[in-house]
Amino acid sequence: MRFNVLSGRWLWLSLYLVSCLAYAGSSVSGVRVWSGPDNTRIVLDLSAAPEFSYFNLKKPDRLVLDLKNSQMKVELSKVDISGRLVKKVRASTPKEKDAYRLVIELNQPVTPVVFALKPTGNYGHRLVIDLPDKVGSAATEKKQQQISKTKTQQQLEGNRDIIIAIDAGHGGEDPGAIGRRKTYEKSVTLAIAKRVQRLIDKESGLKGVLIRQGDYFVNLNKRSQIARKSKADFLVSIHADGFTSSQPKGASVWVVSTRRAKSEVGRHLEDHEAESDLLGGVGELMSNTDNDAHLNFALIDMQMDYSMNTAYQVATQVLSQLGKVTTLHKKKPEHASLAVLKSPDIPSILVEAGFITNHKEENLLRSGNHQQKLAKAIVSGIKKYYQRKPLPGTLYAKTYGVKKHTVKKGESLSVLAARYKTSVAGLKKANKLSSNTLKIGQVLTIPNS
Ligand SMILES: [Zn+2]
Repeated sequence: MRFNVLSGRWLWLSLYLVSCLAYAGSSVSGVRVWSGPDNTRIVLDLSAAPEFSYFNLKKPDRLVLDLKNSQMKVELSKVDISGRLVKKVRASTPKEKDAYRLVIELNQPVTPVVFALKPTGNYGHRLVIDLPDKVGSAATEKKQQQISKTKTQQQLEGNRDIIIAIDAGHGGEDPGAIGRRKTYEKSVTLAIAKRVQRLIDKESGLKGVLIRQGDYFVNLNKRSQIARKSKADFLVSIHADGFTSSQPKGASVWVVSTRRAKSEVGRHLEDHEAESDLLGGVGELMSNTDNDAHLNFALIDMQMDYSMNTAYQVATQVLSQLGKVTTLHKKKPEHASLAVLKSPDIPSILVEAGFITNHKEENLLRSGNHQQKLAKAIVSGIKKYYQRKPLPGTLYAKTYGVKKHTVKKGESLSVLAARYKTSVAGLKKANKLSSNTLKIGQVLTIPNS
């Protein structure tokens, strides 16, 4: 009798387990669409590792994805699909009874890259569908070629713009740090980056290029690659700190170090960056190695010295400007080993605009007024550096570079001071003159006004 009861229970239990396996399979609890200029990414949240297959259909273009043993728990009509590539996501009848068939209607033929991601951070199992946008890529490439052509042409004429790449940290699946009021770092960084770009473009002699233009993820390698393709002379990456406690506050500026950071916040920042690619979702197929392929390795050390030196000086300027509008976490630029700063050919800094995990600063970082102040400080720091050390061939060199003047008959210090918008004292100081007399043919250095 006892045995019968037990075996009955076992039977019930095993039937239950079998039915769980049969019906639970995996369920889709989230569908997100992130559209970038040259790629649209669709992410599915799943309760278990997915078993999937897919194929393309033409007329109209669509991608059909079969998820074995799965159920959809998302109302597809409510998924935000804004962007150019995806027209609609809908269900269809699968071949296998227990499968779920998802159809993605597209605006152009696409060769998709589909891969599963293991649970990480707050995410469980995910399935990533990357849809490369050929039309968008061609447009991006054309824009980059145009920048490059203009830069070469202007360089010859000696009046080119200094190109500043502006990198808004995180994006898409990677929210970055999150504040108490659910403020996402990725939104704050994009808002500040856009303000920085507008201010830079207003300044004649400078041109801003945004690495990320919307809410989508760009992996760390690709960020440097975009900067390089856009012919950037300098890169500023914008972040807002997150920490495990709400005490730390203040802005900071980071430059690259070849060693691991010394401070706790620095190590936290490095870990945070490493986590970014995992959260953002980098598939094996997307890891690119051609990033450094074109670099002349013999030049790298020399370039790295130049880059690190320039970055440190710009960082110092930016920090001193930031200090006028916000609390500083540290008074000097700090060092950390961060991938986004490692381009040997592009001096790069990372600005942490404040701590999003500090309640007071979270409120500030949300405010447009404060974002504008931060953006202005960043831009004025960059301007100050390049006004002092303008790159050859640039409009800045023409405007702010050292000028020479050969004294002609009838010219006095006061005449020249008026002509070059400087002062007699300034002229005397720049040329170490002890008297006011000038000789015809004497070469004077004209100081920057
Ligand atoms: Zn960050």
